[in-house]
Amino acid sequence: MSFTIVASICEGHFDCIPVCPEECIHKTRTAEGLLVTFVDSTKCTDCGACEFACPIEGAVLDVWRPELQAPAPLNPLQSIWFE
Ligand code: SF4
Ligand code: SF4
Repeated sequence: MSFTIVASICEGHFDCIPVCPEECIHKTRTAEGLLVTFVDSTKCTDCGACEFACPIEGAVLDVWRPELQAPAPLNPLQSIWFE
């Protein structure tokens, strides 16, 4: 399975990114242009570190709900540009 970052709740603090042992949390933008993060479900191992690190209640779910995440950038390299 995979954890989910809820785009409508995420506030873009990015505390989750450095604690992910799989390096599978990346930055992206919502349709409104807000900078948020999303989980690459193909690499997430359900360790829970992101949920523990996130200061925003409800921003990280311990279930896979892809419809709640912001889409990955069309060009994956853009995720690096947002760093
Ligand atoms: S999931 Fe939490 S820690 Fe990660 S960017 Fe969003 S608000 Fe910040
Ligand atoms: S549950 Fe663990 S592996 Fe999955 S995104 Fe969060 S920190 Fe990364």
